[in-house]
Amino acid sequence: MFDQKVDVQPLSNELGSTGGSIAPTNLRGLLEETLAGRELTARDAEALLLAEGPDFHALIAAADLARSRDCGEDVSYVVCRNINFTNVCYVGCSFCGFARHKDDALDAYDRTHDEILAKCQNAVDRGATEVCIQGGIHPNKTHEHYRDILLAVKARFPDLHIHAYSPEEIDFGHRKSGMKLEAYLQWLMDAGLGTMPGTAAEILDDEIRNILSPNKLKTDRWVEIIKAAHGLGLRSTSTLMYGHIEKPRHIAGHLDLLREIQKETGGFTEFVPLGFIHERNLLYNLLGARPGPSMLEDLRMIAVSRLFLRPWITNIQISWVKMGHKLGQMALYAGANDFGGTLMEESISRESGSDFGENTPPEEFRRLIREVGRVPVERTTLYNVVERFEDPALDPESLEPAKEVDLSGPARSRLKFESTKSEPKAEAPAA
Ligand code: SF4
Repeated sequence: MFDQKVDVQPLSNELGSTGGSIAPTNLRGLLEETLAGRELTARDAEALLLAEGPDFHALIAAADLARSRDCGEDVSYVVCRNINFTNVCYVGCSFCGFARHKDDALDAYDRTHDEILAKCQNAVDRGATEVCIQGGIHPNKTHEHYRDILLAVKARFPDLHIHAYSPEEIDFGHRKSGMKLEAYLQWLMDAGLGTMPGTAAEILDDEIRNILSPNKLKTDRWVEIIKAAHGLGLRSTSTLMYGHIEKPRHIAGHLDLLREIQKETGGFTEFVPLGFIHERNLLYNLLGARPGPSMLEDLRMIAVSRLFLRPWITNIQISWVKMGHKLGQMALYAGANDFGGTLMEESISRESGSDFGENTPPEEFRRLIREVGRVPVERTTLYNVVERFEDPALDPESLEPAKEVDLSGPARSRLKFESTKSEPKAEAPAA
């Protein structure tokens, strides 16, 4: 846990390595005060979200220093598998490329328990400690459907952590249940719910939500569900989606709200900023949103999150599905300390147009983390250490299924040549 007594060290001592010129006094002063322990205000965050040139360099350096003080040089990741149990959804979010109508004969699906259990088995075989179970809001399902999935998974895999059901899904199940909210959440916890994704947050400001997703739960309800969960000891992540129609003030307000909730409940495990993927959804193609964040926005978002949320939320996670591996590595120098999950299967971002893949195996996380001079650490969902991998020579064998690589270029003729070279020469017949 973060030590709230932050060392007072002038930022000016730390900026030499950035190579940038000196930031204007007001921003430098702001960053120094933050590093000395003053909480940023929402207005401060708005200003930092627009930092450019030398200000940008100063922001990144300050966030990296804060990350080093909060979390040291370890970078964590979790071995997990995504399981989407249905893509049928009637909510109609404009940024979503994943949802299908239930009568879409081509590619709507609704997984059986056997199919879900087969995915859990695959996850366990590949070393997962967590399954992340989420789905669309299928109009024909009841609250019992959510409970029954938990019971089925826990009956077969009692040690697997179940991270499941966004506040949108909780809202839907709760309204169908007729129970009190706390009773419904406890009912799911008793069935095996371990933690909740803090998704369905997008931007926690109804001005934006009414454009992005008019049918989705409103800010007050998201907060009510998260606080009720935390009150029962059910912890959650926290997220934000940026790079579409929001302004810096909306991001700042969202961060402020998360920080206030965390002060009250302490229930967030981490914060994950999610860049908007634009290629294949309504929000960009018909509603005029920006085409996702620029590289500078991605890094500013990570840096401002680190500085704004500390010491209340100190795990700042990269979404490699949105950023890609290389920008993710850069984000480790801008305030992030967690590389997220292996995922193994990912369709939410892919269906909106992301092409950064669906699976980052643990050995690839370790390589990416070591490439930037940090120490890889496998963690649980709740940030307990599974193993710290200081010495690459002691890394375990990969548990990934063998991958067929379709070689191209001169590979085929070269391989043929190599194989003939290694064939034993036929002995000359006796004269
Ligand atoms: S984002 Fe979730 S709730 Fe919204 S349409 Fe897609 S699946 Fe449904």
